[in-house]
Amino acid sequence: MSRGDMAKPLLGHRSMEGDPSLTPASGRTIGVLGSGDFARSLAIRLVCSGFKVVVGSRNPKRKASLFPSAAEVTFQAEAVKKTDVIFVAVFREHYSTLCDLADVLAGKILVDVSNNTEINHHKESNAEYLASLFPACTVVKGFNVVSAWTLQSGARDGNKQVLICSNNQEAKRTVAEIAQVMGFTPVDMGCMSSACEIENIPLRLLPAWRIPIFLALGLFLCFFTYNLIRQVIHPYIREQKNKLYKIPIEVVNTTLPCVSYVMLSLVYLPGVLAACSQLYYGTKYRRFPDWLDQWLQHRKQIGLLSFFCAALHAVYSLCLPMRRSHRYLLIETAVKQAVEKKMTIWVEEEVWRMEIYISVGIIALGLLSLLAITSLPSIANSLNWREFSFVQSTLGFIALVISTLHTLTYGWSRAFDENQYKFYLPPTYTLTLLVPCTVIIAKVIFTLPCIQHRLLRIRRGWEKGRYVKFVLPSATGEFSSGETSSNV
Ligand code: NAP
Repeated sequence: MSRGDMAKPLLGHRSMEGDPSLTPASGRTIGVLGSGDFARSLAIRLVCSGFKVVVGSRNPKRKASLFPSAAEVTFQAEAVKKTDVIFVAVFREHYSTLCDLADVLAGKILVDVSNNTEINHHKESNAEYLASLFPACTVVKGFNVVSAWTLQSGARDGNKQVLICSNNQEAKRTVAEIAQVMGFTPVDMGCMSSACEIENIPLRLLPAWRIPIFLALGLFLCFFTYNLIRQVIHPYIREQKNKLYKIPIEVVNTTLPCVSYVMLSLVYLPGVLAACSQLYYGTKYRRFPDWLDQWLQHRKQIGLLSFFCAALHAVYSLCLPMRRSHRYLLIETAVKQAVEKKMTIWVEEEVWRMEIYISVGIIALGLLSLLAITSLPSIANSLNWREFSFVQSTLGFIALVISTLHTLTYGWSRAFDENQYKFYLPPTYTLTLLVPCTVIIAKVIFTLPCIQHRLLRIRRGWEKGRYVKFVLPSATGEFSSGETSSNV
């Protein structure tokens, strides 16, 4: 999981927090047009942050009781006269009804907080539309990514970033100051052409999660079908036994660890492919193909989904003995044993296998939890690069190795038992081992000194063909190595 992903702001633009040119703005009078949910929450937050607030409503008498007593609620024209910065908390469709105020609004800063109902709903952004209606005003887009709820509860609860854009630097700075005093982190998104992008942000549904979720669902479907054939359909066709009851818990519980294990290996496989590409081309400056780039960027989400499946597997496994079917089968076995006058069914090897299997599984889940926790931005930000890389890279790889041991102790010798090959299909665990073992072997190969050394040099900027390595005897008789450019 790349640290950059965790540390960077919602969007990769310049944070204005800590900008020395931002001066305290509290005490200033701020206008709010509209008296709806957003206007109300905004007024409360502004008042709490030390601003004087004047609200412009079409019906101030009726709406005044909804606002804190410190805020003045008056007619729209009266309100805009009293301030230079006005938040337009009105829907885009109603902007044109504000045109009567054009003269009083001239020369003032209008903050467009509006959102759309669909991505790229209109040709021009709402902010650009507002600017076209009020050419004598300076429009700043901002605060639309903050919900009324976040405004009311304060910046400590919810997303702290306020994305701001405008063609006027001074106006943008003023709005950034206000955001900062309110406890938010203003992020400079550039000029007005970014407004469309800012307006689309609240409408996007988990954009970074889409591919990992489809991947997890795809794997789940494949393994579920495979397990269903082996655990339910095979006994039905071969022995006319109805094992449908296994579907809700047993089949799901044998599918979840497969998905979790393969997903965990898919977190580390793109790193292996990237290293192979760098070794092959002898440079780190060659762009990875788009699919690999995308894959590398989604490692955090893939890892978190792997943890989610592992956690579900743990809960399902704990619930296995609670099932009535389990109790019936246990009693049936006991009765059979009594009829056959068997005193014990203790199999030492099975006992050991199970003890090791469970213990290793618990350790793997513990490590996965650690990986998941440290991928949270608040935790990741408290770690330095070395700590983060140790947890995500080293501990992550150890988690993969331990998960492999967990899988192997589960399978034990089943791969060599021909009864386990239902319809000639090998046991599921043997299939899951394929990708993780490839990753583990590749990682071990990368630790061989000759490969590790070359990879390290490439990652420090060395390029095949551009540099010639030379070895010189030093004054002490030892050998020292260096690099020189063949072009020089
Ligand atoms: P709302 O509760 O429906 O309030 C809209 C307000 O617009 C009304 O209270 C009304 O106040 C005023 N208005 C002015 N002219 C109007 C007209 N011709 N017809 C109808 N209303 C008129 O909406 P809201 O949730 O506060 O949202 C306001 C803006 O904030 C929207 O652009 C929205 O996209 C944006 N926003 C909202 C949230 C949120 O969480 N709610 C979050 C981000 C952005 P008066 O009757 O007093 O004039």
